[in-house]
Amino acid sequence: AHVAALRGHDVTLFEARDILGGQFNYAKVIPGKEEFFETIRYYINELEHLGVEIKLNTQVDKAMLSDGKFQHVVVATGVVPKSLEGKLEGADLPQVISYAELLSGEKSVGDTVAVIGAGGVGFDVSEYLTARHGQPLDELGPETLKDPSYRPEPQSVEEWREEWGVTSDMNYQTDGGLIKPEGITPIRQVYLMQRSKGRLGAGLNKTTGWVHRAHIKSHGVIQVSGVQYDKITNEGIWVTNDQGQSQLLRVDSVVVCAGQESVAELMPNVGDAPDAQYHLIGGAKLAAELDAKRAIRDGAEVAVQI
Ligand SMILES: Cc1cc2nc3c(=O)[nH]c(=O)nc-3n(C[C@H](O)[C@H](O)[C@H](O)COP(=O)(O)OP(=O)(O)OC[C@H]3O[C@@H](n4cnc5c(N)ncnc54)[C@H](O)[C@@H]3O)c2cc1C
Repeated sequence: AHVAALRGHDVTLFEARDILGGQFNYAKVIPGKEEFFETIRYYINELEHLGVEIKLNTQVDKAMLSDGKFQHVVVATGVVPKSLEGKLEGADLPQVISYAELLSGEKSVGDTVAVIGAGGVGFDVSEYLTARHGQPLDELGPETLKDPSYRPEPQSVEEWREEWGVTSDMNYQTDGGLIKPEGITPIRQVYLMQRSKGRLGAGLNKTTGWVHRAHIKSHGVIQVSGVQYDKITNEGIWVTNDQGQSQLLRVDSVVVCAGQESVAELMPNVGDAPDAQYHLIGGAKLAAELDAKRAIRDGAEVAVQI
């Protein structure tokens, strides 16, 4: 919408939710990703300034696009979290929630939590659940998180130094001014689990993956790999570990981070003869790892071609 409007097109932006930003609204509450509050603010300002017609609370269906009003339709409907309902016994219990329900503040979790899936979102959720600075975001609720003027309290420099063992000693009495950080008492007990064997987070970004791995280690997240999920009950989650032993992890809540599925229903089917030219971009085109840059580039490239 931004690039198309910059190039002088008349643009209408439809959004099913009552806020713009899509999944950035989930990413922005993750400790260290607060910058995404600014990304959303920047785009909203730009779109308003460029006169893009913004229609919130508008779930678009095919009929709405077939009246010949639009010459081009860019389908950027993103992804939905994969659900385990129908695939894992107990996945429909109320204590089993998606990362989207958690990070939007719609639902909260108890003191012990199992996170299913240790990809980028599983790591982010584990960090979110164990970060101790500021007011716990899940207590704020969805309305506060939607308020464009709301900013989470950033971690103070002192807390950051304490967490990472960086001293303020400018005489460098210790090597590089570093010390071994004090043990952190996590605010929750979190189990982060993956089905594949081997180290958790091996596929995270090369330059920043170590930060995420270090965070979950220092915050006492119990890492479980090579696990098979058997069922969820009111006691917790039953798993079979990589030794073939059945085990109950007693948890209050389960957060499902088991991947995402593209939403591209608005694209024409074979045989349809739409008036407009259709373009598919971002997560709607490919639900892969966390990559907003690709989605934004897709949008910019389509906008310069039309
Ligand atoms: C926890 C988390 C952390 C992340 N961290 C990072 C990160 O650090 N770096 C990074 O690069 N990426 C990150 N991402 C991924 C990034 O947010 C996505 O790649 C990006 O948002 C994809 O953009 P999109 O426009 O394709 O789709 P989305 O952001 O999914 O937006 C799609 C929008 O379309 C709306 N919609 C769907 N159907 C309709 C309809 N029929 N009518 C109207 N509106 C509709 C949806 O409500 C939604 O607002 C993260 C994602 C998550 C969940």
